[in-house]
Amino acid sequence: MNRRFDAIIVGAGQAGPALASRMTAAGMTVAIIERHLFGGTCVNTGCKPTKTLVASAYAAHLARRAGDYGVVTGPVAIDMARVHARSQRISAEGRAGVESWLRDMKGCTVLTGHARFEAPHRLRVGDDTLEADRIFLNVGGRAAVPDMPGVTDVPFFTNSSLLATDTLPEHLVVIGGSYIGLEFAQMYRRFGAEVTVVEKGPRLIGREDGNVSDAVRDILEREGIAVRTGAECISFAAHADGVAVNVECEEGAPSVVGSHVLLAVGRRPNTDDLGLDAAGIATDGRGYIVVDEQLETSVPGIWAMGDCNGRGAFTHTAYNDFEILAANLLDGADRKVSDRITAYALYIDPPLGRVGMTLAEAQAKGHRVLVGKRAMAQVGRAVEKDETLGFMSILADADSRAILGAVILGTGGDEAIHAVLDLMSAGGSIDLLARTMHIHPTVSEFLPTIAGDLDLAP
Ligand SMILES: Cc1cc2nc3c(=O)[nH]c(=O)nc-3n(C[C@H](O)[C@H](O)[C@H](O)COP(=O)(O)OP(=O)(O)OC[C@H]3O[C@@H](n4cnc5c(N)ncnc54)[C@H](O)[C@@H]3O)c2cc1C
Repeated sequence: MNRRFDAIIVGAGQAGPALASRMTAAGMTVAIIERHLFGGTCVNTGCKPTKTLVASAYAAHLARRAGDYGVVTGPVAIDMARVHARSQRISAEGRAGVESWLRDMKGCTVLTGHARFEAPHRLRVGDDTLEADRIFLNVGGRAAVPDMPGVTDVPFFTNSSLLATDTLPEHLVVIGGSYIGLEFAQMYRRFGAEVTVVEKGPRLIGREDGNVSDAVRDILEREGIAVRTGAECISFAAHADGVAVNVECEEGAPSVVGSHVLLAVGRRPNTDDLGLDAAGIATDGRGYIVVDEQLETSVPGIWAMGDCNGRGAFTHTAYNDFEILAANLLDGADRKVSDRITAYALYIDPPLGRVGMTLAEAQAKGHRVLVGKRAMAQVGRAVEKDETLGFMSILADADSRAILGAVILGTGGDEAIHAVLDLMSAGGSIDLLARTMHIHPTVSEFLPTIAGDLDLAP
């Protein structure tokens, strides 16, 4: 059957459903197509299940430390089946919520199946062809499986398959020392697995400044996680005890034998099976859909939102893409992707909250950078909670006094960082931050103190 709509949305991830809601509320007919799980990566194999597991891992960690707080407990044990069931239940609730929201939406037609372009404004889903003047792509991405020697000869997990099992590996070798890999590494260590992180680059989370990488490594190593950086030539081979991962690092044994391997070496966009050529939609060398500042693709009337456009890799960037498009197309606004300030968190414990530029980025852009820094051990709230690992740091331009970026690696860092983000968004200066009264006792109360005590970075 051939069907025509005012708008078609491909993918029910983090941007599509919200856009469907705004467009139908404006009186348009909308078709939304989902080929797998409603809610996409975040709800099913990303943020939601991992953060529920991080919460279980934190509970285990705190229970083991109960004596530090004068609390008497018995031996601490992990019931992986219940840990897993909790994460699956919370994901399932989120998924069901997205699906029923869409199915109950007046003016919205929900189709399940794989969508593929046949022409610029025509898509095929099973036996149906769908046409619309406005098409929005929200197809997300999936774990990349790198072309490393031996990878196809051994069993391995990705985030999706590991989250689907309640197995507790005896020794999990995590390939990739970035955000996803480190969250899994710490949670599985806290569940009782031996864990080794293997990273190709010279340090963990290589896009951060060196002092952040070093502090994160220290936090993980204190919990008994082995970290192998500089693993130039990673390869895999079957072994009687599981999988041998050859790391060839400058230091340490040439190989690590683990019972299980997790590949966490990046993501790739779901654009290879979308028929983009039939529509003439341009992609970059890595398959991301090329978009302009308003998220329009190379074909007028077709936009791309979320991970598939390469302009962000987070739920909040996908959702912000929706907000930009809704504002521009429905409210007559002129919002741009580049208006947003970089912001994200790494959910190890303690978490890392990050906004704006790193010191290296700021200096590369020619700023004379003022830096303020405090160890979390100096922060009263952290001392009272007995969670003193990490540090806070703020960067400002020495000439304009604009805030350039900030890091809070410490207890509550994922929340407290928003004090800086909101001020940056409002264009407030470092001096304004220094003069703002914050609540005691909080992690955030140290931000004005740090803002008033800055040194020029060498
Ligand atoms: C382990 C892990 C942890 C994460 N943790 C966080 C976190 O804590 N915070 C955070 O902000 N981000 C986190 N992320 C990233 C976050 O999940 C993604 O950035 C976000 O889900 C991207 O949303 P999206 O809407 O672009 O795509 P997705 O959520 O991936 O949705 C795309 C949807 O499109 C569907 N689809 C694809 N192709 C087609 C097609 N041809 N036809 C029909 N349907 C199609 C897919 O089935 C999918 O449902 C995490 C990711 C992972 C993997």
